[in-house]
Amino acid sequence: MKILVIGGGGREHALSWKLAQSPQVERVFCAPGNAGIAEEEKCECVPLSPLDFEALAQFAREKGVDLTVVGPEDPLARGLADYFREKGLRVFGPSAKAAQIEASKVFTKELLARYGIPTAAFEVFDDPEAAKRYVEKKGAPIVVKADGLCAGKGVVVCRTVEEALQAIDRIMVEKVFGEAGKRVIIEECLFGEEASFMVITDGETVLPLPTSQDHKPLLDGDQGPNTGGMGAYSPAPVVTPELAETIMETIMRPTIEALAKEGAPYFGVLYGGLMISEGKPYVLEFNCRFGDPEAQPVLMRLESDLVELMEAAFSGKLSEIEIRLRPEAAVCVVMASQGYPGKYEKGKVITGLEEAAQMTGVKVFHAGTAKKDGKIVTAGGRVLGVTAIAPDIPSAIKRAYEAVEKIHFEGAHFRRDIGSKALRHLKR
Ligand code: ATP
Repeated sequence: MKILVIGGGGREHALSWKLAQSPQVERVFCAPGNAGIAEEEKCECVPLSPLDFEALAQFAREKGVDLTVVGPEDPLARGLADYFREKGLRVFGPSAKAAQIEASKVFTKELLARYGIPTAAFEVFDDPEAAKRYVEKKGAPIVVKADGLCAGKGVVVCRTVEEALQAIDRIMVEKVFGEAGKRVIIEECLFGEEASFMVITDGETVLPLPTSQDHKPLLDGDQGPNTGGMGAYSPAPVVTPELAETIMETIMRPTIEALAKEGAPYFGVLYGGLMISEGKPYVLEFNCRFGDPEAQPVLMRLESDLVELMEAAFSGKLSEIEIRLRPEAAVCVVMASQGYPGKYEKGKVITGLEEAAQMTGVKVFHAGTAKKDGKIVTAGGRVLGVTAIAPDIPSAIKRAYEAVEKIHFEGAHFRRDIGSKALRHLKR
């Protein structure tokens, strides 16, 4: 069978790599892909934009693609899955209506409130003055969120009332996120530890994927600005097996049921960004796709054939599947360009990739890379996701950092404490 993966980051490299391992798969096309994906066995990059639905569908038809897998949220929120389905093409990912679970925070919070699914208390505002009055009444700390997609920058956790008032002005008056900031959510600030919980679903059966934890801030100790994610590990020891069961029963299954009842049945991977507060899980956000970088360690631990899992979702047979996992732990350290998440230069030559790749249990997933004059060069903010699988989290951390040490490019930046939160749990 032939597969088309949409996107070109680390998550899409992990997806292409994993899908290509299926004995059923003869070819994986990736649009637009990256230099790492181009080097994978059975994989080929095609220079098409993830938002050019017409060209993508035409390509899928011409090449006889049997299944399209969508990596990023933007094409899903803009209706790529609907467009493909209308054209009779099979696509793994939710409709635009169901993708609102990520694309509109107001939609999601109202859905959660209606169905009694645990989340922080909140109010929605379309008038900045009313939002400010509410903040002054509630006091700080408090969280201000723009409704729409803002590439991870639309959420401000405010320590003071003043900060919250400024955030409201930036989002609603200066309109720094345009239409995405027409409405804001003002939300109670939750304290605890975050975890990522992904499930695969056909809209009825909901199967949990391995737990994981992301590291959004740029610098060690969760300091500095938020990024797309500087590293991840799996499993996340904060999510005990009992807690995973609670998450499935109180959050993931009820959300899938709620979406079906609201006429937006969900098909694909649903990602819950959760806060574990005093042992109880709360929804911070949902994403309508695999997390990036969580997909890298999670897919490394997945023993099951991913194509088989996706096919079971299409044929309504997910309930017959038992997901097989490798018992080891995996850790992904993101190497980023100097200046990221702000401005950064591209085109820096990357060396040491082969030495790292030869290490046992190491897989270097490419995110922002390109090939120039026969050399692999940087081409994005997040450049590589250096991922290692090993018997336990401490040894996976060690292995991942040993691999990172072998790789060089000018200005390379990475966090040195990926996985340290997991170590704290393991010491308890
Ligand atoms: P965008 O919409 O801009 O893409 P996002 O979807 O990444 O943003 P969230 O994941 O909802 O935004 O929030 C980003 C981070 O803000 C969370 O990972 C968490 O650390 C913090 N956060 C969000 N809501 C709360 C809350 N109620 N209490 C405490 N922290 C929060």
